[in-house]
Amino acid sequence: MPAASPQGPDEECLLLVHVRKVVGQVTYRVCGECADGVITEVVLDEPFRACGLGTRAVSHLRARYPELTWRTTLDTRLTRDLMHRLRIPRAGAAGMCSHVRPPAASAASAASAGHRQA
Ligand SMILES: [Zn+2]
Repeated sequence: MPAASPQGPDEECLLLVHVRKVVGQVTYRVCGECADGVITEVVLDEPFRACGLGTRAVSHLRARYPELTWRTTLDTRLTRDLMHRLRIPRAGAAGMCSHVRPPAASAASAASAGHRQA
């Protein structure tokens, strides 16, 4: 089963585990205000690219956040096929709404604000 672990204040990371070994990960951002989920990175070890692990990972995200509409900022060969199969459209240029800041900026603001609960 995939296991989730937080990665920074706005980015989350879903680890893809196969026989107790991490074989990939999906990085994504979630905005509750827009009901938007944006997949920003998909990493999969080569042997697992054709076996549906990516599809399962995104299905897992959809099950976990049933209220969100998913998009992606990715446009690589691996993710184009995957996102096409899953009917996940490309996000706009920046790939994020005004509520979700880029990782660098959010890290800085989280340090100064310091009120965000995990
Ligand atoms: Zn938003």
